[in-house]
Amino acid sequence: MLTFCPTCANVLMVRKDAGGNVRYACQSCPYTYFIDKEITKVIRVHKKEVDDVLGGEDTWKNAQRTENSESLAVRPALVRPMQRVSPALW
Ligand SMILES: [Zn+2]
Repeated sequence: MLTFCPTCANVLMVRKDAGGNVRYACQSCPYTYFIDKEITKVIRVHKKEVDDVLGGEDTWKNAQRTENSESLAVRPALVRPMQRVSPALW
C-alpha cells in the first residue's frame, strides 16, 4: 500500500530507527508518521460490465438450431451463418 506525504505529496517510505520504532518518512521533507498500530485500507473493486461480443440475445433469436440428441443429453447448438471476407488474391 502506498502512502503519500500530506505536505509535499511524495511517496512515504517505511523506516525503522535504532530504537526499533517503525515510521513513515518522507524523502523530500521532514514529515514523519510513527506507526503504532496496523494500518489497513479496504478497497472495494467493482467488476467492469462486459460487452456481449456475440451480439446479444436478439442476434440468436432467429438462428438455426441443431437437432437435440436424446442420447448425448446436450443442449442444441445455435448456428448462424456469417459472411467471411477473404483477402485479395494476386
Ligand atoms: Zn514530504
